[in-house]
This record gives sequence, structure tokens and C-alpha cells, in this order.
Amino acid sequence: MNIGIHLSSTGGYKSMADMAIKLGGNTFQFFTRNPRGGQAKPIDPKDIENFIKISKEKEFSKIVAHAPYTFNLCSANENIRNFTKKTMIDDIKRMEYIPENYYNFHPGNHVGQGIQTGIEIISESLNEIINENQTTIVLLETMSGKGSEIGGKFEELKKIIDRVNIKSKIGVCLDTCHVHDAGYDIVNNFGKVLNEFDKIIGLDRLKAIHLNDSKNACGSRKDRHEKIGKGYIGEDAVKKIVNDEKVRCLPFLLETPHENLVGYKEEIDFVKSMRK
Ligand code: FE
Ligand code: FE
Ligand code: ZN
Repeated sequence: MNIGIHLSSTGGYKSMADMAIKLGGNTFQFFTRNPRGGQAKPIDPKDIENFIKISKEKEFSKIVAHAPYTFNLCSANENIRNFTKKTMIDDIKRMEYIPENYYNFHPGNHVGQGIQTGIEIISESLNEIINENQTTIVLLETMSGKGSEIGGKFEELKKIIDRVNIKSKIGVCLDTCHVHDAGYDIVNNFGKVLNEFDKIIGLDRLKAIHLNDSKNACGSRKDRHEKIGKGYIGEDAVKKIVNDEKVRCLPFLLETPHENLVGYKEEIDFVKSMRK
């Protein structure tokens, strides 16, 4: 199966790939820059070359870059909006050094402007960000719907996608903790949730899974991740998710709270052991 964790990007791509392999995975996620924004490290061509070589050798699946949490494409503050746009354009340019991978971001917080206005600003911005020639697919992450978050409902993501001009460059990353907290009953009926996703967004848009358990009940709108099998989602549901025919070939990224890498290695083993 395609599985990995969120890694620190400090040592570059090759060292992230080495770590992913050491943990028993074949993919990983990383922040494009400091999670609070700020400068990205300069691209090292030798590092890129080494990474591409090893990822081919070890048959890596797609890897996922995660945009900083401070980004808000639909901020009411024009400076934050423009900064986010500018930085996302730069992130995508940098992603092209490792072509055909994914760039995941949180759609945004409408902060009192209303969901509809938020959706319109996000899609207008995406039309300035996404270009015809990029190989990177931009992923909207499904959110828990806490506060004024956009993306807690499949319909909201669909409305954004509908307004994006270059649709071949946009996809969705489904976060299991987030959809559960948003009120989708993946514990008792993952299949039904996927059918709903298919009906509203289309399963061909689903490119990656953030595999997390949740510290809170379905519909809590909390967004607090738990270790696999230790939360409200539970082992049985996770087992069904990772074996579901419609998603089993996607990259699964763990964003669970472990103190150290041993915990992650054990969790990767645990999830792999669930696969039929
Ligand atoms: Fe995220
Ligand atoms: Fe996530
Ligand atoms: Zn989360």
C-alpha cells in the first residue's frame, strides 16, 4: 500500500525519502516552508536528482506538499490574501522541480464574510494561481468545519472546483479526522460517504487520504487528530477505509500525534497489517 507520514523538510527531499523508507513507507508529506509561512529553502538540484532517483528505485507513489497553516486565500485582509496568492504561486513553481506530485492546502476561513463570498474569492484566486503548464495537482483538503472554515461540506469544495477554469489541475485530499468531525459517518458507513463524495464532487477528483483517528465524536467540528485505532473512528473503521476498493490505491498520509519516529514506524506497520 502507499503510506507515509508528515516529515520535517529541513534535510531536503532525499533525506525525507530515506526516512520514509526507514519507516516502512513509500510516500510522505512535508511543509513547503515553515508552517507559519516565511521563506522557503533554496532548491538544491543535486538533492532533487537524488530524490527522483531513489523514489523511482523504491517505487514511491505521489508525494504531498502541504501549504502553511497561516495561508488564507479568502482572508478579509487584502494583504494576507495577496501574500497567500503570491506564496502559493511560488510553491507551485518549486513543486515543478519534482513534477507530477500534489500540493495540498486548506481552502480558507471566510472570517465573517460568509461561505458564498469565501468560495468566490478562493476560486478567483485559484484562477490566478493555477497555470496550464504546471504538472502539480492542487488539492483542496476536506475540513472539519470548525470556526469559519470552508470545506467542511463536499458541496463547498464542489462549488470551488466548479469555478476553477483549469480543472485538470485540481483535486481533493480527504482527511478522515476532518470529515468525521464535520459530521460524515465514516465509522458506520464509509461506503455511503464515498458515494456521496462521488455524487457531489466525483471520485476521480480524490487524489490522497490523510489517515487520522479523531479525539472527538462525529459532527463535533473540532479537528483534533488521534493515533490510529485510539479515537472515535477506531480500528474497525480504519480497516474498512484502507481496504475500500475505491481508495485503496491512493497515497495514505498519517498526521497522527506520536512523540517519536518509533511510534510512526509502529503505526505504519499496524496499518499495513490491516490490508487484505
Ligand atoms: Fe491539513
Ligand atoms: Fe489533514
Ligand atoms: Zn487537522
